[in-house]
Amino acid sequence: MRRSRAFIPTSKEAPNDATLPSHIFLSRAGFIQQVAAGLYNYLPLAKRVIRKIENIINEEMAAIGAQEVELSFVTPAELWMESGRIEKFGKELLRFKDRKGNLFVLGPTHEEMMVNMVRNRVTSYKQLPLHLYQIKTKFRDEARPRFGLMRGREFIMKDGYSFHATYEDMSREFDAVEAAYKRVLERMGLDFRIVEADSGAIGGSGSKELMVLAQSGEDTIAVCDNCEYGANIEAAKRAARAKIPQAPEEGDFAKFLTPNVKSIDELASFFKVDPYYTVKCVAKKCIYEEGEEIVLFFIRGCDNLQEVKALNATEALDIVDVSEEELEKIGLVPGFIGPLDQDKAKHVIDEDLKDATGMICGANEKDYHFVNVDMSVLKDAAYYADIAEVNEGDICPACKKGKLSFTKGIEVGHIFKLGTTYSEAMKAEFLDENGKSKPFVMGTYGMGVSRLVAAIIEQHHDDNGCIWTKTTAPYLVNIMISNIKDEAQLAYGEELYEKLQKAGVEVILDDRKERFGYKMKDAELIGFPYTIIVGKELANGNVQIYDRSTTQKTDVDANEAFDKIMEIVS
Ligand code: ATP
Ligand code: MG
Repeated sequence: MRRSRAFIPTSKEAPNDATLPSHIFLSRAGFIQQVAAGLYNYLPLAKRVIRKIENIINEEMAAIGAQEVELSFVTPAELWMESGRIEKFGKELLRFKDRKGNLFVLGPTHEEMMVNMVRNRVTSYKQLPLHLYQIKTKFRDEARPRFGLMRGREFIMKDGYSFHATYEDMSREFDAVEAAYKRVLERMGLDFRIVEADSGAIGGSGSKELMVLAQSGEDTIAVCDNCEYGANIEAAKRAARAKIPQAPEEGDFAKFLTPNVKSIDELASFFKVDPYYTVKCVAKKCIYEEGEEIVLFFIRGCDNLQEVKALNATEALDIVDVSEEELEKIGLVPGFIGPLDQDKAKHVIDEDLKDATGMICGANEKDYHFVNVDMSVLKDAAYYADIAEVNEGDICPACKKGKLSFTKGIEVGHIFKLGTTYSEAMKAEFLDENGKSKPFVMGTYGMGVSRLVAAIIEQHHDDNGCIWTKTTAPYLVNIMISNIKDEAQLAYGEELYEKLQKAGVEVILDDRKERFGYKMKDAELIGFPYTIIVGKELANGNVQIYDRSTTQKTDVDANEAFDKIMEIVS
């Protein structure tokens, strides 16, 4: 490509709302153009990067025997009613009617469509397993589209779906996809972690996320410093805690006067115990389709409520704060709420409190707490769930040795052991070896293609712009003719350009009549991995190779530049 002919509208101006490097640089370097909130045009450079990502994905999918298909973007709402997801997805689903009044949905993901395509076509265990995928535009009317390609409303996803006769076979495929996704990200030159994830609204029994490590990531992940364990904080677990010092003195259960002692800090210092031995009540309002309900979450005083875990435990659509007045209205005493003798509101108790003894908790009476509480007295009556957030420094649940620390990640992929949720709801069945009808056991595997474009830049940039990895760059080599009026420079540049093109290297020739400094800034902003600078030194037989990632310039003999570049890029 000749830069003089290329449509790469670079600019000094970043969009007003852009805060992330990927959003700023992809806009300024002429990769993307925003047309409305969460809607972007992909310009030629972005298209080239997207194609590269797609090629890598296609190759790795072929290697595990997955077949590419393409499903209609506009999907009949009926299918969403069949699966029951039309309500669950809520406002993120963009719905509309055609001229005949039929209701449709722009596909935000394609489980229903894929099940619909396979049912009644695959009818025997002999035709299983089957793995189909597509790379396709998706639409989700996100409440807060932001950060450029990171969270768009329209975006590109690679979505795969596998069908199996047994859970074991699905589990085998899940592992194969995990390995394939790992290769995809490795080939793209990304630093990433595969972590345990929350399965959320999609259902299923197990899921993992692929997280590209970057400070700007929206997800917090807990990683072990000793083993491979990593988990989204929404799903992270920890090993049982060793004996914590500052335990309360042993004694009998009693009600204790604690005037004005409301917060956990006050309570812990009043009794001179570690907050670990106190029970914290986090009161919230759970929102359901049918209405709302106050729910009391009980956790150890040293812990915090994990909202996604709380959502899963209550199956609520949303969880919001509740005021003291609202609590008082139903007869609760804020500051002194405890799980014993109290039926004013629904309780969820953290699993870690199940057998705790010697605990201190509110007595549901102003200025009183109970001491020496044996939490196991609640056992049968209570509802337990894992609702506490792990803390940095907690012990790893996998190796039981290492410590957990937090890091930020960008979710670029999510793979699920889906099971039979959709096949049962949509009556997608096959005949097993004994002629018995059974629902397909399914897996589903998503990867955010357009989000990956942004994630690469979040991980690879500096103050001057993008730094593409070798396998994802829109062009690998940029030939910079410093002074286009210098005939020798022009002739050399043209010849090298031809040669590299013939050798199959993706090369762009900067043949614009602009100042060297301006063109160099432009090249840095766009982030070509290598720029060959053809300047004054050519008269002495030298050119320079500029490496964008190290920002080092190396002198090379002009006659050897081609071989040198071929060596670097191969
Ligand atoms: P998130 O938690 O970031 O909202 P999600 O869990 O809703 O994502 P999935 O349903 O698991 O997303 O979709 C599979 C993949 O599609 C995600 O891992 C992500 O890479 C990508 N993706 C999802 N939503 C968006 C979006 N709004 N813009 C760009 N990519 C997205
Ligand atoms: Mg997800």
